[in-house]
Amino acid sequence: MRGKSRGLVTPLPPSPLRSGGPGLQESLHHYALRMAAQCCLTIRKLEEFLLRDDPRAPKAGNAIFPSSWIGPRSNFRSLLAALEHDTGVHNLHTGTFHVLADVMGRGGTRRRQIRGEGRVWCPACYLDWDDPSSSEPLIWAFDMLTACPNHGVQLESRCSSCGVSQEFSAGYRHRRKCQRCQCSLAHGKGARESDKQALWVNAALLEFTTWIATVDTPITNEKYLEFLAEMRARPNGEPLPPPIRGYIAMEYHRRALKRSLPTVTTLLNLAAFQGVAIHEILCHPSFAASPRIVPGVARFDGLLFRRRDLTRPHRRVVYVIDKLASGASPLPPPSVLWRELGLWCDGVRDYCPLEHESFTTRFRSQDRLLSVQRFKLGATSCMRLLEKGGVPVDFKESLIQHLVQRFDFNAAAAEQCASACAGLREALALSEDEGELLAFETRRAHEVAQWAANGS
Ligand SMILES: [Zn+2]
Ligand SMILES: [Zn+2]
Repeated sequence: MRGKSRGLVTPLPPSPLRSGGPGLQESLHHYALRMAAQCCLTIRKLEEFLLRDDPRAPKAGNAIFPSSWIGPRSNFRSLLAALEHDTGVHNLHTGTFHVLADVMGRGGTRRRQIRGEGRVWCPACYLDWDDPSSSEPLIWAFDMLTACPNHGVQLESRCSSCGVSQEFSAGYRHRRKCQRCQCSLAHGKGARESDKQALWVNAALLEFTTWIATVDTPITNEKYLEFLAEMRARPNGEPLPPPIRGYIAMEYHRRALKRSLPTVTTLLNLAAFQGVAIHEILCHPSFAASPRIVPGVARFDGLLFRRRDLTRPHRRVVYVIDKLASGASPLPPPSVLWRELGLWCDGVRDYCPLEHESFTTRFRSQDRLLSVQRFKLGATSCMRLLEKGGVPVDFKESLIQHLVQRFDFNAAAAEQCASACAGLREALALSEDEGELLAFETRRAHEVAQWAANGS
């Protein structure tokens, strides 16, 4: 247990959480970066300091990822509690997804930088930056947010002079300059967001973070199941379009099995269809699931995000898993597949738990010629080789040679690894074709609808 702070003196400066207006409260990740700079610490040292008395403290170094500070579903609670204790500031939880930790998955929030984009920023906010009052808001953590709610200009994720993406946890004092070329990331030439659908999403997210700031106690997850159950039980007066019915049946099935939590994308889809706000689904399920007497103006007639590029890596992973499972090649290690699409295991599990599980199970049951560790190393190296050099005609032979010479694989193991990589490469290439993806998804939606119609 941590000792009581003596009198009014707190171990860390009692800096308030900032806000740029309703729904624009500072993210705790930014708060921590600011605090670290104020105390002349790195964010990693700040994390070590905060967890100094915690015997169950997670490994130091997690703090470089925003999800460690804001959630949902990570170890952010220990850091949040320690920060609130050490600063004596008691509303810091409003800069996190604390209220949603039991109801929303990590999908749809920006978490780590692998092969994709890092953080985003508003170039106009950086231009107007005022050290004593400015902050980066929690809402920037949603990867579906396309524009700054304040300036209306599109968020950026790459330096406008050299095109490089930027690390999440760049220190407070260096954050507004490019890590590579040192050019300022601030400018006034940002493009205005004009896409209607994007504007709707941005407004829905702003309403959502405004609501987050007003709630102190985490909400429970039964409400979402209640919402889905009511949607399923809707009387015939208003039949749901088949894609929606199938989607709801699948979501219900997952939630009933406690397989995964909905992502913000799923919640937005349902909110768009019902013409309600996200928090209404989570707090007032009966109201949110009721058939609309007067269709709301904001209502969409299908799934809003099926075809958006934002969910593309996830869509591709479902496709690739299906291809590999029905092909004859040996399967590559799951982590290699996720990484090729820039996804984390958790993200895949949140998005498609059934496919995730069937793939990992099949991989485990396949003939073991190598340890998983060596298989991963070999496969990763092969995938890099394929990515670099174009693909020579006899590429499988060159992969086998590479594995034998560089990794000392025996012939059978090299053959297995090279075939797995060749199969993966082929499936990945096919999944880049939008037409191919759509045809696959249509087939699949049809199967789901049939499954739902046959009584689940
Ligand atoms: Zn802005
Ligand atoms: Zn640059």
